[in-house]
Amino acid sequence: MKNRADPPPLQHPKRLDEALRVDFSSRYLLVEGIERCPIPMFVINHKHVISVWNRALAQLTGLSGEQMVGTRNQWQAFYSFERPTLADLMVDGTVEQEIDRYYGGKYHRSPMLDRGFEVSDFFPDMGEDGRWLFFTAVSLKDTSGYTAGAIQTLQDVTTQSRAELALKESQSFLNQIVNGSSVPTFVIDREHRVTHWNRACESITGVQADELIGTRDHWRAFYDKKRPLIADLILSHALETDVGHLYDGRFRRSTVIDGAFEADRYFPHFGEDGKWLFFTAAPLRDANGKFIGAIETLQDITEQKRAEQALRNSEENFRLMSITDSLTGLFNVRHFYEQIEIEVKRAVRYGRPLSMLLLDLDHFKNLNDVHGHLEGDRALAVAANVIRNNFREHDTAYRYGGEEFTVLLPETDIEAATMLAERLIKTLANTPLTTDFGNVLTMTASVGVAEYVADDTATSLVRRADTGVYEAKRLGRNRVSVMR
Ligand code: GH3
Ligand code: MG
Ligand code: MG
Repeated sequence: MKNRADPPPLQHPKRLDEALRVDFSSRYLLVEGIERCPIPMFVINHKHVISVWNRALAQLTGLSGEQMVGTRNQWQAFYSFERPTLADLMVDGTVEQEIDRYYGGKYHRSPMLDRGFEVSDFFPDMGEDGRWLFFTAVSLKDTSGYTAGAIQTLQDVTTQSRAELALKESQSFLNQIVNGSSVPTFVIDREHRVTHWNRACESITGVQADELIGTRDHWRAFYDKKRPLIADLILSHALETDVGHLYDGRFRRSTVIDGAFEADRYFPHFGEDGKWLFFTAAPLRDANGKFIGAIETLQDITEQKRAEQALRNSEENFRLMSITDSLTGLFNVRHFYEQIEIEVKRAVRYGRPLSMLLLDLDHFKNLNDVHGHLEGDRALAVAANVIRNNFREHDTAYRYGGEEFTVLLPETDIEAATMLAERLIKTLANTPLTTDFGNVLTMTASVGVAEYVADDTATSLVRRADTGVYEAKRLGRNRVSVMR
């Protein structure tokens, strides 16, 4: 080789067998052993001349022992130009100074070999698309400690290295995707340790990445007590039915992403007035489909939730307004006709009793005439209150028209309904009303009571109750008339 210092003169041995301090037969065995060894290797002497080039190496490099032994062409197996191999550097004793120049960034000291190095390098000229080789070299010393040669062993690690490289690349892609994303995102590995916690995630949770990376404490960002997040549940192969309780039934399979789950939840301690967060988590799989982690993204859906709630509230308000009588606050007559149909159907289907009251205030025209229409309105509101305060949980009261009211009494037979009606008119008669002019007046009412009987319709039931009112008026008012 060029530019190479002459090797130091050897004391006694000029041959490898002497360098190895073995006798001829042992040497033969050793060379044979190297020859047959499945690990590719070659031996050079102190003049860089190849003395052994084993079969495994011949197979790896495509250059046979016959071609190589006795030459200094070891470089040809690896490079398209002449340069020293690691074994050559060992023989020259310049490895410490030169290793950086020849193998910078690709070597480290061998933990197994004294003064040895391990190198992992890519050889683009080998094979069809180049090869990754892992190799070591050690110098062979003679009895006086002089270098008599070097042995280099090699391993083809192409498949392994390509897989590692692919993994590194995909990890680097994942890093860039997660860290570059404006969507709050975190990643956990298969041991549930946080590997990524991006800026957006820091800002929404107020918890910094360096507090969590490498830990299993991601729950801390959301809860006071330790509990699994969706990413954890996915890794544990938990099913929606098992964990529904953790998210109040708000945990469900994603309709968009296969294998992903989602949930939403309110976090009262986030932001100024709390936040609604929507979580989506999906498994990360290796090439064989095995779970290697999970990625979870968060979305602040507070505004959306508030808008939905406001809409629901106003829808509910509109609905209530449409079925409520504005003067008395009782349900209106439209709602009465809807409800009586429903109650009649229910009574028929389950064979349960159903009764109703129809109530008409007595001489109300007179009250208006004496005290004025405004006082009349106030009196209607007072009567409505008396009715409201006298019915039970499942009873419903309606302003039927002008100064007429109805009460629907499900699960109530005519006797119980009559008692309710009696109590009602008594209470009404005992509830005086003071007008703006200081006049105290009382109201009475006439009530018709009817119970649903076979073949009744809503209309026939109402008509019977109405006949009851007429009857009560006829009999002198302030009374209950029961229509059997
Ligand atoms: P009775 O039922 O005892 O036979 O006599 P009444 O005076 O109540 O007779 P009727 O049912 O014929 O008259 C109902 C009166 O109720 C007529 C009307 O002046 C009054 N009225 C109806 N709706 C309202 C209302 O919304 N406000 C007021 N102030 N009065 C009303
Ligand atoms: Mg009337
Ligand atoms: Mg009346």
